[in-house]
Amino acid sequence: MTIKVWDYLPEYEREKADVLDAVETVFRSGQLILGPSVRGLEEEFAAYHGLPHCVGVDNGTNAIELGLEAIGVRPGDEVITVANTAAPTVVAIDAAGAVPVFVDVRDDDFLMDTDQLAASITPRTKAIAPVHLYGQCVDMAPLRRLAEEHGLAVLEDCAQSHGARHHGQPAGTMGDAGAFSFYPTKVLGAYGDGGAVVTARDDVDRVLRRLRFYGMEKDYYVVETPGHNSRLDEVQAEILRRKLRRLDDYVAARRAVAERYREGLGDLDGLVLPRVAAGNDHVYYLYVVRHEQRDRILDRLRGYDIALNVSYRWPVHTMTGFEHLGWRRGSLPVTERLAGEIFSLPMYPALPRDVQDKVIDAVRQVVTDL
Ligand SMILES: *Cc1c(COP(=O)(O)O)cnc(C)c1O
Repeated sequence: MTIKVWDYLPEYEREKADVLDAVETVFRSGQLILGPSVRGLEEEFAAYHGLPHCVGVDNGTNAIELGLEAIGVRPGDEVITVANTAAPTVVAIDAAGAVPVFVDVRDDDFLMDTDQLAASITPRTKAIAPVHLYGQCVDMAPLRRLAEEHGLAVLEDCAQSHGARHHGQPAGTMGDAGAFSFYPTKVLGAYGDGGAVVTARDDVDRVLRRLRFYGMEKDYYVVETPGHNSRLDEVQAEILRRKLRRLDDYVAARRAVAERYREGLGDLDGLVLPRVAAGNDHVYYLYVVRHEQRDRILDRLRGYDIALNVSYRWPVHTMTGFEHLGWRRGSLPVTERLAGEIFSLPMYPALPRDVQDKVIDAVRQVVTDL
């Protein structure tokens, strides 16, 4: 059987009783839309972050789009982000009517290079959307300093960083709002789509509740400003409440896998393992390694029945859908070089130990024989 980079079935086998009980609880509740489970998850996810507010939405992309609208981004505004991210970060900026502006990333940890931020700020810049990539946070102190100096809002893309901390502070609590995805592969994943925005700001919370519900304040059934239908599903919310109680265990299990990879692969010439930046607690959404002969390695690993992902093979600024933005190959040299050298080893909390061993043995063999 082919070894996959991610698989939810081993976890489902362990947690089946709880998951099915969550489904049954919602089906019997008599409230299938914006009921007690969504409210409960919102309270518990806010509390997990030490924040007063969380608004459940239907997916992570819409969490970013609605989050940007709620912090004041309007059509034509520029939003600064990175191009080595899941395309939805940029799709969401575009959907909000804003113009994505890309900064390059650091060569060692692949995170937004905040030294290059200042040069990207123009009179039209409205917000910065840092991506806490692969499970660790962007260097937030210089980013926040610039945002304050220039009066910019900050939306953190936390789709890959549930439970991550930066100098002790949880991802999602260091800007005006934090957008999360509960896509099944994520560190906190649903059994379908889901998302949420956390915020300390009362005004942002209020606008988000309206935006996800057609633009209505629920009780009046009158549209104030046309919004969206972006509600979090009640069944997914109840499953997520159960899984939130285990989030710290999932993270610990991911760290244990990362530790084993480091022990098993740390001495290989040319293979660069993830670097944890100062002050970061990494949650290893993905375990991304780097090698100059990436494509040869992936080819040969297929012979061991191991199919690995590249996240992400095509930097967003080079995608045809964003050609109109006018970015050319060569404009983000580090991002572009990394895209040709990175690949992800299998990573999920229930990854069996014998599979970890097979991956370590195969990668050792292939890299040594290059
Ligand atoms: C997964 C992801 C998203 C999108 O989340 P969906 O729930 O799939 O819409 C956005 N940004 C990043 C960085 C992601 O990894």
